[in-house]
Amino acid sequence: MLNKDEKVIPVRVALRCRPLVVKEISEGCQNCLTFVPGEPQVIVGNDKAFTYDYVFDPLTEQEEVFNTAVSPLLSGFFKGYNATVLAYGQTGSGKTYSMGGTYSSAQEDDPTVGVIPRVIKKIFQEKFKRTDCEFLLAVSYLEIYNEDILDLLCVSKDKPAINIREDPKEGIKIIGLTEKEVLTAQEMVGCLELGNSARTVGSTAMNAASSRSHAIFTVTLEQRRSNDKSDSVVSKLHLVDLAGSERQKKTKAEGDRLKEGISINRGLLSLGNVISALGEESKKGTFVPYRDSKLTRLLQDSLGGNSHTLMIACVSPADSNVEETINTLRYADRAR
Ligand code: ADP
Ligand code: MG
Repeated sequence: MLNKDEKVIPVRVALRCRPLVVKEISEGCQNCLTFVPGEPQVIVGNDKAFTYDYVFDPLTEQEEVFNTAVSPLLSGFFKGYNATVLAYGQTGSGKTYSMGGTYSSAQEDDPTVGVIPRVIKKIFQEKFKRTDCEFLLAVSYLEIYNEDILDLLCVSKDKPAINIREDPKEGIKIIGLTEKEVLTAQEMVGCLELGNSARTVGSTAMNAASSRSHAIFTVTLEQRRSNDKSDSVVSKLHLVDLAGSERQKKTKAEGDRLKEGISINRGLLSLGNVISALGEESKKGTFVPYRDSKLTRLLQDSLGGNSHTLMIACVSPADSNVEETINTLRYADRAR
C-alpha cells in the first residue's frame, strides 16, 4: 500500500484570517490585512507581504478550507501515511473554530462546522467504500498542560501515569493513554464530546487554562487485508488545537502562571524549531529537535519523514492585534 518513493512535502502552511468579530467592530477596529486575489499572499499595512501554500481570507468558508488544505492529507492517511493538522495562533484568532473541536452531533449539516467533524465524516465514507480491507478505527484525546499529559477520555479518578515510548516498529506509543475503538461516526463524535467536556469542566480559570494547553485528537486507522497481522497498515492522524501563541505579560506572570507561560512557549517554540528543521532537512542532514518538548515528542512520528503536516496559522484582521498577527505570520513563514 505504501510507496516510499513518493515525494512528500513535509509541511504545508495555510494562513487563515477570520472576519472582524462584533467586539472589534464596536471598538472601531480597522482591517490591517489585505489579500491579493488569486495569490496565496497577505499584506500587512502598506508593504509587508507574506506568501504561504494557501491563504484563506475572512470570507473563506469551512468547506473550502477542508477541501483545499485538509483533504490531501486524508488521501495520504488512507494510503497509510501519518498526518498532522495543527491550528496555531493567538487566543481568539479562530483555532477552535477552524478545527471544529466544539462540535456537537446536533449540528450535522451546519456549514460552519470545522475540520474535525468533516474529517470524521470523510473517514466513515471511505470506510464504507472500501471493500478490499477491514478498516479498524480508534481514537484518543489528550491535553498537554504545563508539560503534563492529561487523558481526556479517561473518566476514572485514578488516572494512570502517562509515558511516551518509542517503538522501533510502531513508532511513538503513549503508554497509559485511553484508546477507544469506534465503529461508527457517532461513536467517534461521542469521544470528541466526552473529551471536550473533560477539558472545559470547572471554573473560568480552566477556560484560561484551555487557551494555554494543546489539545490533540488522534485517530488511528488499521487497514487489514486478512487476519494475518503482518498484512496490515497502520496510520495516525493528529488534529491539534494548539495553545494560544500570545506572549505572557511578564508583570502578571507569577508563580503558577509563570510556569504555565514558560511551558507553553516551550511546546510552540520547539514545534517551530522542528518544523523549520524539517524544511531544511532535504538540503543537509539537519538535526530535528523533537525531544525538546512533550508536544514535539508526541508528534515525532507524524511530523516529517513520510508524514504530511498542515499548519493552519490563524490571525485576526484587526489593527489592535497587529503585533500578534505579525508574530504569527513570521512563525508560519519559518515553517515553509
Ligand atoms: P481561538 O480558539 O483561537 O481562541 P476561536 O476559534 O474561539 O479562537 O474564535 C474566536 C471567535 O471568532 C469565536 O467567536 C469564533 O466563532 C469567531 N471566529 C473565528 N474564526 C471565524 C471565521 N472564520 N468565521 C467566523 N467567525 C469566526
Ligand atoms: Mg480555542
